[in-house]
Amino acid sequence: MSTSAFADSQHPITWPAGFTAAASFTFDVDAESCVIAHDPTSTRRMSLMSHQSYGPKVAVPRLLQILARQDVRATFFIPGFTAESYPDVVRQIVDGGHEVAHHGYLHEPMQGIDAATEASYIDRGLEALEKVAGIRPVGYRAPWWELNWHSPALLADRGFLYDSSLLDGDAPYRMSVSSGSPAGAGDTRDIVEIPVDWTLDDWEQYAFYPGVTGSGVIESPAKVLEMWTLEAQAHHSQGSCFVLTNHPFISGRPSKAVALEQLIERVKGMDGMWVTTLEKIAEHTKATVTEVHTHARIDVPVAPGFGARFKPGRVQVPALS
Ligand SMILES: [Zn+2]
Repeated sequence: MSTSAFADSQHPITWPAGFTAAASFTFDVDAESCVIAHDPTSTRRMSLMSHQSYGPKVAVPRLLQILARQDVRATFFIPGFTAESYPDVVRQIVDGGHEVAHHGYLHEPMQGIDAATEASYIDRGLEALEKVAGIRPVGYRAPWWELNWHSPALLADRGFLYDSSLLDGDAPYRMSVSSGSPAGAGDTRDIVEIPVDWTLDDWEQYAFYPGVTGSGVIESPAKVLEMWTLEAQAHHSQGSCFVLTNHPFISGRPSKAVALEQLIERVKGMDGMWVTTLEKIAEHTKATVTEVHTHARIDVPVAPGFGARFKPGRVQVPALS
């Protein structure tokens, strides 16, 4: 299959010598945090809490065994609250050679919050990872992938190398922190963005808890394995970046974990596929990609019929050696 016919022309990238595409297996260790963030009274529900605690208690050790057996390093996004609740699990992840990255403190809803509030969440998450495991993460994934226009500058202020929450590409790229934010005008800094996709999130396939999440349908791991294999093959053939997002309390259950290991074997077997952490992919992107994207922000017109204003932009900057 020709690579050029399918490549992400907006985000060109050349992979390290010997590789023609990239893949990363990522795990969002939400545990109880994502449920409590929506409804603090969830803590009164013993069964619901047990559904979430299955992640760190049972699934993470199983997933770490799989990753060790497959000799694959993964990226684990861990909310600060999870880290404080399960410090030994964080240390097991670190001991396995995996990357630990930031995922909020209590998996806070980010929609509509101001920069100061969001900054307080990020800082509290940073403090928790530092306290529990002495980790200063370079990667961030917004809870529910909900980035705000002011978020990139907050991340740059704190020295983050990359974010992985946007959905507008097949390959990593550099984005200006001034995107769409009047306060950021003139800010020349950028961070790496490694895009994600709901197709490659286990939540849509498997998540179900009555009255909390899901439609009631829990898909067959055989179907999911086929779907994700097709996605990996397409990324491989077009030279882009396959990023799978799994949640241990979902994909760490028995048959799903078996299917995930089969997927890992298949992806590893793709000739020229660089299977690594998001940190490594971000470092490579920062060092080799010269183009910086400024995201277009669409303004709702005041006058009817005026039409939305749309100003995309890209600039060239020197590569880091
Ligand atoms: Zn999450």
